[in-house]
Amino acid sequence: MHTDARNLENNSIIEGDICIVGAGAAGISMALEWMDTKYKVILLEGGGFEYDEKMQELYAGKTTGQKYFPLKSIRLHYFGGTTGHWAGFCSTFDQIDFKERDWVPHSGWPIKREDLDPFYARAQPILDLGPYEYDLKYWQQKDPDLKPLPLNEEIVWHKIWQFSPPTRFNAKYKDTIVNAGNIYLYTYANVTDIKANKDVSNIESVTVKNLEGKTHTVKAKYFIIACCSIQNARLLLSSNSQAPKGLGNDNDNVGRYFMEHVEIKGSELWIADPGSVKLYLLEFLTTRTRAELAISEKKQKEFKILNGTASFNPLQIARDMPSMMETWSENKDENDKMMSEYGSKKSPLVIPKGFQAFQLFTRIEQAPNPNSRVTLDTEKDALGMPRAALHWELTELEKRSIRKIHELIGQEVGRAAKGRVQLLEYLQNTKDETWPKFTSGGWHHMGTTRMSNDPKKGVVDANCKVHGINNLYMAGSSCYATAAAPNPTLTLVSLTLRLSDHLKERIKSS
Ligand SMILES: Cc1cc2nc3c(=O)[nH]c(=O)nc-3n(C[C@H](O)[C@H](O)[C@H](O)COP(=O)(O)OP(=O)(O)OC[C@H]3O[C@@H](n4cnc5c(N)ncnc54)[C@H](O)[C@@H]3O)c2cc1C
Repeated sequence: MHTDARNLENNSIIEGDICIVGAGAAGISMALEWMDTKYKVILLEGGGFEYDEKMQELYAGKTTGQKYFPLKSIRLHYFGGTTGHWAGFCSTFDQIDFKERDWVPHSGWPIKREDLDPFYARAQPILDLGPYEYDLKYWQQKDPDLKPLPLNEEIVWHKIWQFSPPTRFNAKYKDTIVNAGNIYLYTYANVTDIKANKDVSNIESVTVKNLEGKTHTVKAKYFIIACCSIQNARLLLSSNSQAPKGLGNDNDNVGRYFMEHVEIKGSELWIADPGSVKLYLLEFLTTRTRAELAISEKKQKEFKILNGTASFNPLQIARDMPSMMETWSENKDENDKMMSEYGSKKSPLVIPKGFQAFQLFTRIEQAPNPNSRVTLDTEKDALGMPRAALHWELTELEKRSIRKIHELIGQEVGRAAKGRVQLLEYLQNTKDETWPKFTSGGWHHMGTTRMSNDPKKGVVDANCKVHGINNLYMAGSSCYATAAAPNPTLTLVSLTLRLSDHLKERIKSS
């Protein structure tokens, strides 16, 4: 069932069993899991079914520190969320990503990779991915042209990516959600406050507002906040009527440890007679599987570096291509155009016969950093909510890790495939800790309500429940304790399915 909350009588009271705030990848994945159950599910979406400039404006906010994309356009504020923009790159996190690593401060999750396995398998079809297979051998059997370079996998191994078409949750799931008998979707229902009881042990309701000046109240047994990392933190911090520092923030962790992937070119790779390189190449929005080069757990440990991978981009296309950070604008139409033309322009580079040349492009986890954080600004949006402010901060560890990843790949590809890797200038001086202007994030927001069993070190527990509050859960990549190398959406959908199973058990026994 769908209701436009602008058409409700002012001060309406809505009641249900569970209330999901935000209808993006996480919120819709959660709602689909509860379809056709006996429970009444309220799904609150701040925007409508189409892009709406006035709704998008509510996301605007300041950024400081390392240059970042404009907050106004970095996430989409309508049904389907940012899946209206995403590019569909998917891969699984590695075992090491969940472990505590003594060389990565604040690393370690309270769950293991194995705990997510069944949920990864269930998430694949939601994102229209292929079979739950991320082993190179499986894909080689399907297509013998996918030939790997003969690398020593104890040093550099082949990590498989699958590509979603990409699934636009608005187009794919709108009718299913609207027609579901037990799902009550409200659009133009911006949650501006989460109201706790006196001792802040339980959430009683959330306040919903829209620009028509109407305010409504939603009551439920359980609340799941699925607005993505920046808005998740903003909502907890600004819900401060009972808890002055914000909900879940007794230990000053909400908003901290904001993580992105550093996405950056690092070197140029020239290979004499490489044979087939189909395995590594990406035709944007067409390729369904490819490999990136990843560094083994052993080498990460030996060199005390972060986890990251490198992909191959044909040098003729990549050398002069500006980074996403340089081209992304506040304007949706310009961004849509940029995305649709991605990788289509060639540079005049001449490549000698018999050679192939690539740019090696890194996507690396950012180390969890308490100073990289979302806070509330003094300025308010049109609904009276304090705007989000983001301070993005990188450290020496990210830069040193990128350099070492390119050195290791250079040595390995040189040995195995008569290749030569030339580090880009910004990586050549080991003492230089500055970042070049083409440094970019991947539009991946993680952290801000990080997971830890210790309330002093995290905001949510291993089930994504906010510490100290009985019925408040966070869904999505805001719960990540570390960022791993892969793009976040497959893992955040998997984590949401796991949360959903947990909640079903809980509600059954309550
Ligand atoms: C250009 C681009 C390319 C990307 N490519 C990839 C990729 O290739 N692979 C990958 O894994 N990821 C990619 N991403 C990231 C991906 O889009 C996100 O990881 C994913 O959409 C996050 O899902 P989510 O549900 O947490 O947040 P969102 O999808 O942003 O959904 C949040 C929802 O909450 C709603 N909402 C927000 N605040 C409120 C409120 N106060 N009240 C009510 N509702 C609210 C929003 O309107 C929205 O519908 C990309 C992102 C961008 C911008």
